[in-house]
Formats: sequence, C-alpha cells, structure tokens
Amino acid sequence: MAATATERKLLIGGEWIETGDWLEVRSPYSREVVGRVARGGADETRRAIDAAERALAEPLPAHKRAEILVKVAGLIGRRHEEVARTISEEAGKPIKTARVEASRAMSTYTFAAVEARKLAGEMVPMESAQAGEGKLAFTVRRPIGVIGAISPFNFPCNLVAHKVAPALAAGCPVVLKPASQTPLSALLLAELEEEAGLPGGWLNVVVGKASEIGDVLVEDERVKLITFTGSGDVGWKLQERAPRKRVKLELGNSTPVIVASDADVEGAASKLAANAFSFAGQSCISVQRIYVEGPAFDGFVEAFLPKVEALKVGDPLDDETDVGPVIDDDARERIAAWIEEARSSGAEVLAGGETGELLKPTVIAHVGDAEKVSCEEVFGPVVILNRTESVDEAIDRANGTRFGLQAGVFTASLDTALRAADRLEFGGVTINEAPTFRSDQMPYGGIKASGNTKEGPAWAVREMTEERLVVIQR
Ligand code: NAP
Repeated sequence: MAATATERKLLIGGEWIETGDWLEVRSPYSREVVGRVARGGADETRRAIDAAERALAEPLPAHKRAEILVKVAGLIGRRHEEVARTISEEAGKPIKTARVEASRAMSTYTFAAVEARKLAGEMVPMESAQAGEGKLAFTVRRPIGVIGAISPFNFPCNLVAHKVAPALAAGCPVVLKPASQTPLSALLLAELEEEAGLPGGWLNVVVGKASEIGDVLVEDERVKLITFTGSGDVGWKLQERAPRKRVKLELGNSTPVIVASDADVEGAASKLAANAFSFAGQSCISVQRIYVEGPAFDGFVEAFLPKVEALKVGDPLDDETDVGPVIDDDARERIAAWIEEARSSGAEVLAGGETGELLKPTVIAHVGDAEKVSCEEVFGPVVILNRTESVDEAIDRANGTRFGLQAGVFTASLDTALRAADRLEFGGVTINEAPTFRSDQMPYGGIKASGNTKEGPAWAVREMTEERLVVIQR
C-alpha cells in the first residue's frame, strides 16, 4: 500500500459506515494501492434511500443550501492540493490537469449556490385570456425528490460536483454511487460537504457492485430521478428499466473538429494537440477526429505533429507530465487493437502507435469512416486526421456517427462558422476553440446517442425540480 493510502467508509444518513468488506483503489500508473473503501451493496443503498427520504421531510431553506455550497467551494480551495492529488492518484490524471479539475469543482459549487438563491417559478399572465380574468397565477419550483447519482471514473471530482451541487441547490437529497475505480475523490467531497454543515442524509455515498446498487436505484419508487454520466451501454439500459423516473444521461462522443482552409492553422494545431491528448484522451469531448479542408492539410500536419511529439508522457504525479496512463489494462488493450485494425486497413500512423505500458499520443491519417477509431469512442490518446474536399464534406463526415455531444470548427469566415453551427448535429459547437472546451456554467450535454439532458448548475437544477402551478381567485 502506498505511503499516502487513505481508508474511507461509506456515508449513510450522516454516519461513516464500515461493512467489513473493502475495495482496493489502485493507481493506474504505479499499480500501488492508493486507498481502501468500504464496499456496500443493495442493503446499504436501501438504507441510504431511507436516510435521503428522512432528509427530504425536513427541507433546508434555500439560503442555507447556498451557504453550504459556498462553504464547500471554499473548503475545496483550502485543500486544493489534496483534492488534486486524490484525483491524480486514483484516476492516473496528470497532476496539472487534476489541479484544473479541483478548481473547476469550486466553480461548479459556486454556480450551484447562485442557482439555490435564484430558484423561483414565474408569473402566469392570467388576464391575457377571458377565462383568467380576476385570477392570479404563478408557478413555484419544487424539489423532485430523492436523486440517484451515478458517476464515471474520468472526472471523479468535478462530475460528482455536477450532480451533488445542483441537487442540493434544488433541495434534493442524493444517493451517490461513484465509479469503483475512483471513489476516493467523491468521498473526500462528501467529507467537505459534511464539514461545510450539510446535515445527515442529504448526501449519502455508496461504493460497490454497480449492478446491485443500480438495481435498487432503478426499482425503488422513492428515487424520482437518476442522473447518470458514463457509457451509453449502461445509461440507455437504465432509462429503459425506469420508464417512470426521470433518467438523465450524459454519455460518450466521437468528437470531431473541422479545420477550414482559411483557418489559423498554427493556432488550431496548438489547441488540438493539447486537447486530443489531455488525460490520455479520456474525456467525453476529447478531440478524436480532425477533418482538414484540402489546401490546409499539409500545413496542418506540419504544425500539428511536432506539438504532439513534444507532449511529455509519464508519471501523472510529475508536474511536467502531459499524458499519463489510461485507466486499466483492458482499456489499453482495446485501444491498441483499434490502432492495429486501422493500420492494417491501410491507414497511416504518423505519430505514436507503439503499444507498450503507456500508450503514446497517436496520430493516424487517412482513416476510413467505418474504422472503430473513427466511428466509435476511442477514450484514449488517439486522434485521426483526414483530408476533405470541402467544409460541407467535413460536416457530413462529422455528423456520420451515432454521437452528438460537442464538435468544433476553425475558420476565419463568419459564414462558414455559422453554417457549421447550424448543420453540425451536436449539443454544442465551438468556433475557433477545441470542442473539448467546457466551462462549468455552460449548458453541456449531447443529442443522439450522447444523451438526453444538459448539465451545468442552472440546467441541472431545472431537471431536478418540478414546476407547480398555483391559481388564486381574487
Ligand atoms: P461506465 O463504465 O458506464 O461507468 C459509469 C458508472 O456507471 C460507474 O459508476 C459504474 O460503476 C456505473 N455502472 C456500471 N454498470 C452499472 C449498472 N448496471 N447499473 C448502474 N450503474 C452502473 O463509464 P466509465 O467507463 O466510468 O466512463 C466513461 C464513459 O463516460 C465514456 O463513454 C465517456 O464518454 C462518458 N462520459 C460522459 C460525460 C458527459 O458529460 N457526457 C462525461 C464524462 C464521461 P462501476 O465503476 O462500479 O462499474
């Protein structure tokens, strides 16, 4: 066990619980045990829902919820390096990227606090219809009830924050199930919420067998909304199995970028090299497919490759590291096999491609649209580079997968930018910025196979509340 290894229990109804069964959390880089977490299952999940129901019965006023959220942001700031190190150790995320994630979590809590203070319904203009004469009507926003939250490994702090902070803003208690590979950041956040004054039962954290915990969240009628971030295979099944709940899905992508011939090629190459390989490509909006309009192709390759080759691959805890490991051996082997498949179908590997312990940033050119590295989500340090005849061809190819989370376009032409924003079938389109860009107040979420909701505290709070109409006869 590493010298810094931490031991954490489950949080249920304000109590830290041991179960006698422990789950080991290992660094994806050193393979050392960096923490042990009490493992729960169906019983603990039911108890957590009981505790959340009790919390719901004693609502916290909005100003108190906002105060707690602001305090959590401050506590993350005070323990910033510890939070970043926890993320880095359990996820293998380069420490400089983990520090950004910790800062973004502060921002997520801060924006959620604003939403708690603004939470209100709206007036209904009753006298605009004859039937409404003499009546006053307005809506109020009510918490939907207990929320089940399921989070992935890749942003173990900020994607938990994007669920639990808006839930508290909305007045909803949560049962959180973080990813088994990265539960430590979630439990540290829970500790900070407790320290900030959150009463017992408002945030409950159960780590353990996913299907067992998931089944209880799906089947228990007291859970009114499930917010899930992760893979489509798991997410869409949850939705099918819980038709009477709100099931909000944030899923994957195969993120495309178009570089038009009039773009600032040097600037685009810098942004895309950084954003295709940050956290070894394990972000749902990591740049994966680059389509360059014909005349700019050679210049783009010339600018892009040295920037990719300059990225430092290695120990995530080293301040200089840009690219660390992928999450586990299964992921590494799958990605290596996909690279080989593309290579043997005639694609040209321009950088990386070796399949050792750490995958090097890999650039593959002239890849067919049916190759897995093109149409599936790689979730690894791989980018494909294709030449197109026109921006319109690039848009068609960008739209040619089942995914629709974010896409980007680099161009100097307003007309091209607006045409791309109109035609790209994605939840978000970035112009002259990598589509990996996200700021935490933005509405963020996909269409098609990429999901059915938007996160960002203002949007998440809307999902987590119900509007109730009040009509008064004067
Ligand atoms: P995953 O394997 O789907 O796991 C996500 C979460 O679901 C984990 O907590 C996992 O638990 C849990 N889970 C697995 N099976 C379950 C079941 N039967 N019932 C209930 N929960 C279950 O995804 P991942 O590998 O952690 O994350 C990578 C994926 O997330 C990628 O596709 C990525 O694009 C997507 N993602 C999307 C966004 C977005 O905002 N759109 C952001 C980040 C990531 P265990 O860990 O215990 O298996």
